[in-house]
Amino acid sequence: MIKFKSIALIPAAGMGKRMGASINKQYLQLSGVPIVARTISVFEQSPLIDSIYLVIPVEEIPYCREHIVEACGFRKVVAIVPGGKERQNSVMNGLRAMQDVVSDSDIILIHDGVRPLITELVLQQSIASAKLYDGVLVAVPVKDTIKTVRDGVVIDTPCRELLWQAQTPQAFRFGKIFSAHVSAETTGFIGTDDASLVERIGGKVHVIRGEYQNIKITTPEDLTLAESFIAAAQREG
Ligand code: C5P
Repeated sequence: MIKFKSIALIPAAGMGKRMGASINKQYLQLSGVPIVARTISVFEQSPLIDSIYLVIPVEEIPYCREHIVEACGFRKVVAIVPGGKERQNSVMNGLRAMQDVVSDSDIILIHDGVRPLITELVLQQSIASAKLYDGVLVAVPVKDTIKTVRDGVVIDTPCRELLWQAQTPQAFRFGKIFSAHVSAETTGFIGTDDASLVERIGGKVHVIRGEYQNIKITTPEDLTLAESFIAAAQREG
């Protein structure tokens, strides 16, 4: 069996403006632990993950190194890379930072820094599936009917049975995701997730059914919701 490494790439270089807080939302406390520290700790504690690349706004790198990586003793974090304008640029910066030390067959798990409720089970399933497909993404079926709206008027009601909400992690062999990003960059294409870049070059992306609690913490309500998920998990022991 060919040995490969599994590497986490955590884009955390957004500005978090929708939270309305004075510090970047990812440093807000979630049940006593900064949001991004909770996210990193899932990968740090997973026996499946070899190393972690963090992508952070350049001006926050010293703060993040001292108050998150060193303060929490995260030993798997091998690089803190400056972010880019869009999420896609931040991910590309992370891929370039690891380019010389990974092989094309290594598996890269790309996971939003503000999705702290990811579980070890989902990491396991993502890595197992990434060996078999061009890419894998975690998603949940939509519960609501989704409308396409332009200028306040509905222009389409897509069939709900076919609609899934994409989450992260999204996992790929390094060679595949790097060439998808290079292709997007060369042509000026911007996608809202990494899987869409692999789809764009004809890749087959597999979907794993994830968990509704794996929310992206974007607004103050999300923080309250995440706190209630954590409290419920603690009660269940
Ligand atoms: O902006 P969005 O909600 O899609 O952000 C998802 C993740 O991507 C967040 O963890 C955020 O910090 C990160 N991001 C980034 N670089 C950007 C924009 C977002 O790393 N330029």
